Amino acid sequence: MNNRIGPTNNRCYVCREPVPQPDTGRPRLTCSNACRQARYRFLKGEPCRKLNREKKIVERRRSKPFVERRFDRKFFEPVYELGNRRNVYECLACGKPYLVERIKSGNPVNPYCSKKCEKKTKYHWDKFLDAYERAHQRGELDPRVEERFWYDKLSPLCPQCGIPFAPNTNLFGKRKRGRPRKYCSPACRKAAYEQRWKTSHHGDSRKHRYRPCALCGETFDAMDSMGRITKKFCNPKCRGRSSKRADTERKRLARRINLARRSKPARLMPRPSKPVRS
Ligand SMILES: [Zn+2]
Ligand SMILES: [Zn+2]
Ligand SMILES: [Zn+2]
Ligand SMILES: [Zn+2]
Repeated sequence: MNNRIGPTNNRCYVCREPVPQPDTGRPRLTCSNACRQARYRFLKGEPCRKLNREKKIVERRRSKPFVERRFDRKFFEPVYELGNRRNVYECLACGKPYLVERIKSGNPVNPYCSKKCEKKTKYHWDKFLDAYERAHQRGELDPRVEERFWYDKLSPLCPQCGIPFAPNTNLFGKRKRGRPRKYCSPACRKAAYEQRWKTSHHGDSRKHRYRPCALCGETFDAMDSMGRITKKFCNPKCRGRSSKRADTERKRLARRINLARRSKPARLMPRPSKPVRS
């Protein structure tokens, strides 16, 4: 044992644990490598791991998309108190922090940072409640949308049918596996795709690339080298046979017409019976 006393009174600079001093050499200031590194960062003015963690959580909370925000006005409280009745709040709609000074007035605080945010919230909630009510009347309401509603959250509306649907996230806004959903169902997604196709192809409906051959019925790829879906037969053999058949059919028809022309006109209507002379 020795009785050396270092500049930190034999206590760690960071965590205040007792630090044993060596007999020789530089007196120790910290208890461990971790604490030494923490001291270094502190003296340099760099944020520590804990602060980074908190910063990340705050950023995540503020950058939540509009549909994942909770519009809970009952427990709307300041995130930071600057002083006597000088509080910092976070906007319910956009998450931006704003300062409210209520030194004299005792009115309740507006939970939005600006008129714009307030208007936007009102617009989307009106639209959502309309769609919610309609879906409820029809019995098409998703229970997850209802759950979100009781949790003071909006749900996105399907751009195809207007029904509110639950996005691919959990109740706290964390994304689930898979890509974000835009439509309420695969049926709506496909319908929207058909619509987009029609608008970009002069109103023509989408044709299937694979279709049965007009002669043998075998399924084949109907797309030609230019990307047009125009082919009718699976191979040139089928096409030749078909054209030959059409040719003979045409000839037979022509022969019949000719025959009909040469013979007497066909008796279409029965002749009126002659009146019987008396
Ligand atoms: Zn320490
Ligand atoms: Zn705002
Ligand atoms: Zn839909
Ligand atoms: Zn064929």
